[in-house]
Amino acid sequence: MKIHIAIDIGGTQMRAASYASDTLTPIKINRIQSQVSGVQPQQRLVEVIHSVIPKDKSIEAIGIAVAGPLDLESGVIQKSPNIPAFDNFPIVDFLKLRFAAPVFLGNDANLAALGEWRYGSGQNHNNVIYLTISTGIGSGVIADNRLLLGARGMAAELGHVIIFPGGPKCSCGKRGHLEAIASGTAIARWTSDQIRQGQNSTLKGFQDIDARIIAEAANNGDSLALSAFERAGEALGIALVNFLVIFNPSCIIFGGGVSKSIDLLLPHIRKILETQIFESSYYQDLILETAALGDDAGLLGALVLARESLI
Ligand SMILES: [Zn+2]
Repeated sequence: MKIHIAIDIGGTQMRAASYASDTLTPIKINRIQSQVSGVQPQQRLVEVIHSVIPKDKSIEAIGIAVAGPLDLESGVIQKSPNIPAFDNFPIVDFLKLRFAAPVFLGNDANLAALGEWRYGSGQNHNNVIYLTISTGIGSGVIADNRLLLGARGMAAELGHVIIFPGGPKCSCGKRGHLEAIASGTAIARWTSDQIRQGQNSTLKGFQDIDARIIAEAANNGDSLALSAFERAGEALGIALVNFLVIFNPSCIIFGGGVSKSIDLLLPHIRKILETQIFESSYYQDLILETAALGDDAGLLGALVLARESLI
């Protein structure tokens, strides 16, 4: 029996799993720390893959989800945001050589979109937008039943669309991007700034305010915390108005830590959609959902990639 291997590489952990065909239950699954002193992350990667290959099984294909930017044509991680040793790493050739199997590479947010579309909240939709809102905002787009990649595999970086020109600085260094206004980090930064400027809040005096604590305060009626989510929700609404007219999705999926507070965001998102979209049919049957697969979305997206050899 042949198996597929799925790998999800994060800055903290690498996960690998082996799957027989037609099941989402792994034969073997393992996670290890990505970076330990004295061992190259490349070596860690080989180790974690070996640990999930069952005896007497040969590999049909390997799918990898990793943060980019990636060069999908040559199979190279151009720049790794959290594993410096993976900068300019030709991961596809490296693994092909060691495991004698086809290897397919994808951006982690794109593959999370793929996973949610095939096995999660996006099933039975042909046009899906997936947004993962946590420290940053990642995304993937399924357009007319396929993962949208673009000319250089760089399509669907929806966290970096401009919402307020000249607005707050984004993690990418530019200003006014969606991520700089509506990510968990941005919500926390705005709230802390407001408190510093003298706004009243039950969060006054708190160290290390994060989006989860602000959500808790908002649910307890704190008006500054409610305003923080209103501001983020409106920014998301403006972004979604633009995404709807570009992609015309039937389903939008919210993942990431901030999506646990989606009830605080949705009224503001809906208000903007209802009032700002030029044609209401974009919005009428639109489904706004939270992600179903949690942390497994990237891994299962890598499995889809290996099974269907999409890239
Ligand atoms: Zn940006």
